[in-house]
Amino acid sequence: MTAQIIDGKAFAAKVRAKVAEHVARLKEVHHITPGLAVVLVGEDPASEVYVRNKGKQTVEVGMKSFEHKLDADTSQADLLALIDRLNADPAVHGILVQLPLPGHLNEDLVINAIDPAKDVDGFHISNVGLLGTGQKAMVPCTPLGCLMMLRDHLGALSGLNAVVVGRSNIVGKPMANLLLRDSCTVTIAHSRTKDIDTLCRTADILVAAVGRPEMVTGDWIKPGATVIDVGINRIDAPEKGPGKTRLVGDVAFDSAAQVAGAITPVPGGVGPMTIACLLANTVTACCRAHGLAEPEGLTA
Ligand code: NDP
Repeated sequence: MTAQIIDGKAFAAKVRAKVAEHVARLKEVHHITPGLAVVLVGEDPASEVYVRNKGKQTVEVGMKSFEHKLDADTSQADLLALIDRLNADPAVHGILVQLPLPGHLNEDLVINAIDPAKDVDGFHISNVGLLGTGQKAMVPCTPLGCLMMLRDHLGALSGLNAVVVGRSNIVGKPMANLLLRDSCTVTIAHSRTKDIDTLCRTADILVAAVGRPEMVTGDWIKPGATVIDVGINRIDAPEKGPGKTRLVGDVAFDSAAQVAGAITPVPGGVGPMTIACLLANTVTACCRAHGLAEPEGLTA
């Protein structure tokens, strides 16, 4: 069997188009422009690239982008004061603090200072609790993107066996909660899980969010399963020349694609969906703030 490729790049373009359509309607009918504020502390090059991409895509869908770049030695008090100002600013509907923060700043304290209604990353403890209890929440972007692709590919997920490998607060746990909310039977695997390959072979839906290059091989996969590879790992690629590298997922794509029914590639799978879902969350937050109907298909 050769798996169908779930094209995250194309799907993300569709999500952005839907967001842009909704933003245009908000502007035209309600004279409201959704706004996303991104806060970057320090000069981590990878974070700078992410923040630039987020700002660019925010503007492309017609929303306002507010970038706040702070020095690496910014104090906790100054960062919290900025978050207070953004919480109070009616032009800002979403706030994202780019992680990781420099070591002297307390990430939990900073994230929990964001107004939960503007917490478009879905990391505030209130949103974690709302998601865990099946209530309306802001949902973390990467698992939201995975859920959208799964629903699009499989339709109803009810009754399917799902295994999520990885239990991080950013991906694994919210992913498991979302699948449970869609009535999957969910198992979470992690570094202490015994016979993990046997467990994975029970999965109709297998989500790998581990951070270990090509750990999940074809013989871990149930024939016909849908495989979502969240991992982004850079490995040496001597075949491309000395010192060259390439990106791979947590799933060994070639062997997995021989067994799975469908699979997301790396790159071009889950990755592009993350920023698309950030934009979706911002438009959702804007609609909720103004008591307007939420855009269909852009929330969990
Ligand atoms: P974390 O490091 O926070 O969590 C990794 C999880 O994998 C942990 O729960 C850990 O278990 C588990 N794990 C580690 N080794 C093994 C093993 N040998 N067997 C089983 N489980 C194992 O990572 P994240 O969740 O933040 O990210 C996971 C991957 O997803 C990374 O490659 C990251 O780059 C990528 N990512 C991609 C995004 C995207 O936009 N596509 C966004 C976010 C992340 P334990 O808890 O027991 O230590």
